[in-house]
Amino acid sequence: MVGVSQWLLGEWSRIGRRDVGFRLGLKIGSRRGKTPKRKVLAFYDALEDRALMATVGYDYILSGFKWANPSRITYSFPPDGVMWEAGKNVLNTTFDTKFGNAWQGEIARALATWQSVANINIVPAPDGRYDWNSLGQSQGDSKFGDIRIGGYPFGGNKKTLAQAYFPPPQGATAGGDVQINTSMSFQINGQYDLFSVVLHETGHSLGLNHSENAATVMAATYGGVRSGLTDGDIAGIQAIYGARKLDVYQSQGLGLSANLPIDLTSGLVSTNTATAGGASLTKIGDVEWFSFVAPSYASGSWNVTAGAANVSMLSPEVSVYDASMNLLARAGDPSSWSSDATAAVSSIVPGQRYYVSVKGTTSDVFSVGAYNLTISLPKGSPSTPRPTPTPTPTPNPTPNPWPTTPPVIVSPTAPVVNSNAVNALPDRFESNDVIGAATRIGRSNQFSVTGLSLHSATDVDYFMFQNATAGTFQIVASGAAIQVLNPRGGLVAQGVGSVNASVPRNATVYVRVVSANSAPLSQYGLSIALQSQARQTPLPRTPLPRTPLPRTPLPRTPLPRTPLPRTPLPRTPLPPWFALPRFALHRYALRLVAPPTNPPRPAHQEIAAAPLPEAHWIPRAWNTRMRLVATG
Ligand SMILES: [Zn+2]
Repeated sequence: MVGVSQWLLGEWSRIGRRDVGFRLGLKIGSRRGKTPKRKVLAFYDALEDRALMATVGYDYILSGFKWANPSRITYSFPPDGVMWEAGKNVLNTTFDTKFGNAWQGEIARALATWQSVANINIVPAPDGRYDWNSLGQSQGDSKFGDIRIGGYPFGGNKKTLAQAYFPPPQGATAGGDVQINTSMSFQINGQYDLFSVVLHETGHSLGLNHSENAATVMAATYGGVRSGLTDGDIAGIQAIYGARKLDVYQSQGLGLSANLPIDLTSGLVSTNTATAGGASLTKIGDVEWFSFVAPSYASGSWNVTAGAANVSMLSPEVSVYDASMNLLARAGDPSSWSSDATAAVSSIVPGQRYYVSVKGTTSDVFSVGAYNLTISLPKGSPSTPRPTPTPTPTPNPTPNPWPTTPPVIVSPTAPVVNSNAVNALPDRFESNDVIGAATRIGRSNQFSVTGLSLHSATDVDYFMFQNATAGTFQIVASGAAIQVLNPRGGLVAQGVGSVNASVPRNATVYVRVVSANSAPLSQYGLSIALQSQARQTPLPRTPLPRTPLPRTPLPRTPLPRTPLPRTPLPRTPLPPWFALPRFALHRYALRLVAPPTNPPRPAHQEIAAAPLPEAHWIPRAWNTRMRLVATG
């Protein structure tokens, strides 16, 4: 029932009848002899705070692939006309004609549905005139999204609705990409429902394989209009990325109610703007509360922004209240996603307390996700000028393969009261206040130092290390705000207390530690540890035959010295793909691992006989392409 190829699929028609047979088989009992469980569909919004009943191997099956940076997974729509695997992309024209603007919203809802239950954040990204699987970074490439969604008519194939690739291990850019069969009759809330199909495909894009439970979204056969995920789907995505976590404030008990808000007063003492970075609405219905006391310099109109653009799929609504909880202003656009909402207030009273609440504009999946909260007071005369940030040097213009997230500015104002604010003394590395004077840790995957301090509110400590192994590093500086930078000063990751950063091999990593609460920190320790090693595509190890050679002594008769004929070897031109060393290597590896004539055939997978043209040979791990087939 599944048109899955471990290698390559060349022929759509091969799914045909055999698939239908498999599907029928599932209805009367699975081929493994298990009795299919009749499960009542349980959707995400009914699931909160209760255990998920799901069985791995039946309700969900993992592909083994996941995005290296789950906190920022981007998606994009390639323009029409680019080559989209086996046809020219026509998705935009096809769906614009049919649905107007509504189709992007259906796809956004599918992605937001996954984001609403897993510890991931997804954001739309621009795209350009780049063919499918163009060379680039597998995640974080600025040319296009990590998950690119295009479509073309799949020839005479009327069984496949769409197909998708699992997340990348490394290398090329096809991982996560989706192809929609534009010759199928897609509808919104009808046969075939666009949201339901894209929900299934993007489940593959995030790392889920086909489930065995026909009731789940990840079942290989189209199962009608879905309104959300089942227990099995949720358990699956959470097995990969974990459930959504409380943000750094909520995990300290702050922001969950107006009685215990996240207090930004201290951030507004010396500057007219305060940002609470890394805030997040963790589940549908969440409201997060902030508060501040207007500083003495404040006067005139001011505003508050809940910013989810470039952060997550959240559509935020922000409300401002006075000390008596009278609503002063509210903003939010329920038709938007991954958007900013700015509420403007016409006046401010110094010394008065104000409250700000953030929730979703709607009560659906778009009400979950990360955002930053910024309070911008009128430019009065702050008591002390804000220190200007140290510009980071640009050592050399060589292209850096490290994905740099756009600099989401976090002025860390976690409202932790620092009991150590007094008696903070400079630490022994005190001169490391600028990136050029970073304390050198050396080449290491594991490092720890204690007795550090941020002796003043504006003290900055820089450290530098080179990793020995590619992978995800956890950097911990308890009580401090951490930014991980690449050698060009680009922001790679940030957080308070602890941050995970994905680092390529032999990279130079800068760690910037600053106060999390605009107060000195008398004591902290820094530790850096490799958490998980980056997946390497192993080269095939064909064992050499170890038959001992017979040791008969060779006769020592001198050989006659006849000159060899000097016939020139024929110079067959190299095929075009050979010009691309990356492709050539992978193709070679592929053939050694498993020639297409004799691939392994797991029971539920089907291998196409005809390979695609050379241009479509892609690295081994990318060839796992999953599809959703249509019934009847
Ligand atoms: Zn599928």
